[in-house]
Amino acid sequence: MPLTADQIEQLKRILEERRRALFAETLEDMARAREETFSAVAGAVRDSGDEAQADLIADLDQAEVAREVREIRDIEAAQARLAAGTYGVCADCGADIAFERLMAYPTAKRCHDCQRVYEKTHAHPPESKL
Ligand SMILES: [Zn+2]
Repeated sequence: MPLTADQIEQLKRILEERRRALFAETLEDMARAREETFSAVAGAVRDSGDEAQADLIADLDQAEVAREVREIRDIEAAQARLAAGTYGVCADCGADIAFERLMAYPTAKRCHDCQRVYEKTHAHPPESKL
């Protein structure tokens, strides 16, 4: 069943709120990573053990930032599909993606069945458990 105008509005709001929240988080993480990198450099003269630990923390923050940036891109792609009128249609089989699935996972590109097939044939990192 295609999405109703109300459902689309609801999903639009969710996507935009999520994008804003993620964006704020990403900025915070980037600021923190910079600070930690700075203290790592500052501490290097004193103690190489501290430096290694600060580097590790900065690396973890960067991984976190990378994940957030990926999610923001996914959200922006979903918003582009909304604008193009192709949102909520499975990229693989063209079927309508269930509203319940989109509410749980608003950036979904595939219907439940195609996603399962996709995850089975693409054995890389599980991005979504849906
Ligand atoms: Zn499908």
